[in-house]
Amino acid sequence: MIDKDYYEILGVGRSATQDEIKKAYRKMALKYHPDRNPDNKEAEEKFKEASEAYEVLSDPEKRQIYDQFGHEGLRGTGFTGFRGFEDVFASFGDIFGEFFGFGGRTRSGPTRGDDLRYDLEISFEEAAFGKEVELEIPRTSRCETCGGSGAKPGTHPITCPACGGRGQVTRSQGFFSISTTCPTCQGTGRIIPEPCPTCQGTGRVKRKRKVSLKIPPGVDTGSRLRLRGEGEAGERGGPPGDLYVVIHVAAHDFFEREGDDIYCKVPISFTTAALGGKVEVPTLDGSETIQIKRGTQSGEVFRLRGKGFPRLQGYGRGDEIIQVVVSVPKKLTKRQEELLREFSALEGGHTPGSFRNEKGFFKKMWN
Ligand SMILES: [Zn+2]
Ligand SMILES: [Zn+2]
Repeated sequence: MIDKDYYEILGVGRSATQDEIKKAYRKMALKYHPDRNPDNKEAEEKFKEASEAYEVLSDPEKRQIYDQFGHEGLRGTGFTGFRGFEDVFASFGDIFGEFFGFGGRTRSGPTRGDDLRYDLEISFEEAAFGKEVELEIPRTSRCETCGGSGAKPGTHPITCPACGGRGQVTRSQGFFSISTTCPTCQGTGRIIPEPCPTCQGTGRVKRKRKVSLKIPPGVDTGSRLRLRGEGEAGERGGPPGDLYVVIHVAAHDFFEREGDDIYCKVPISFTTAALGGKVEVPTLDGSETIQIKRGTQSGEVFRLRGKGFPRLQGYGRGDEIIQVVVSVPKKLTKRQEELLREFSALEGGHTPGSFRNEKGFFKKMWN
């Protein structure tokens, strides 16, 4: 905390109004702002003093304590004086924002390029086994004609004559001055006398760029793959953004996926179901033969371990779950019909399995 009189620092009387104090502080802050006085210790000191004085005198409670007890009184409140530039800018943001045009200052710096999103549809099998694809991404990139400077080859950007390269212009209004973003250079501090014909002076061009991407096995709809630095080009030498590839997996004719497992329905003849036998089933790795036991019911489930999707995180693969569906022939030859009628007669005309055995099923239906 400084020992100088706060009223003296701001050059106001002891009965100054809040408005007068604010005006006085603005004037001082503009004059001694560190942005305007680089490496000027004296200006920095004055700026700190003014900020501290303003912090006290703009706060009615602190001002009253100061008026009654001076610096000593403020010590008792835990007030320690100038809190550093970051804090001052944060708490007096309205004053600085209004009069220094801080927005303009950040706008003229290097900016990271935007991230891009690319939606990619792949087949079910590609999702299972992965794939290397080459994508054509329309995006902005650095203009090669001018190397990103925006100036016609052989010419150079020059310092903006309107603002002298500061990116801000100051004009006087009343007894203080106002800084705004320079309209000639839009705050960049430089202008391009002869723009590059390829990019019209922007330093960036829209073009399709080939990007190769390795899709790992096991991806699913919604999986997001990030390609660092493959987004839009940065501005004024800023780093490029990232490219996010969002995966969409096409539906399969007979497989359905749930997590790492796949499901499919396989029709079997009623004779195979009754007598047992071998059935060919599809898998992601080609067809495979499974053994159906005698007396298999329609809807029974078989699990082929390790025949599902590779686990994206971790080792191994999920399972393939096969549900057999007994299909009843719609057309019978004469001989087939004879045999079935004979079979039916042997059964006594009743369906195998009683009403009681199917109780659960019927109960569900009737409820
Ligand atoms: Zn160019
Ligand atoms: Zn300018």
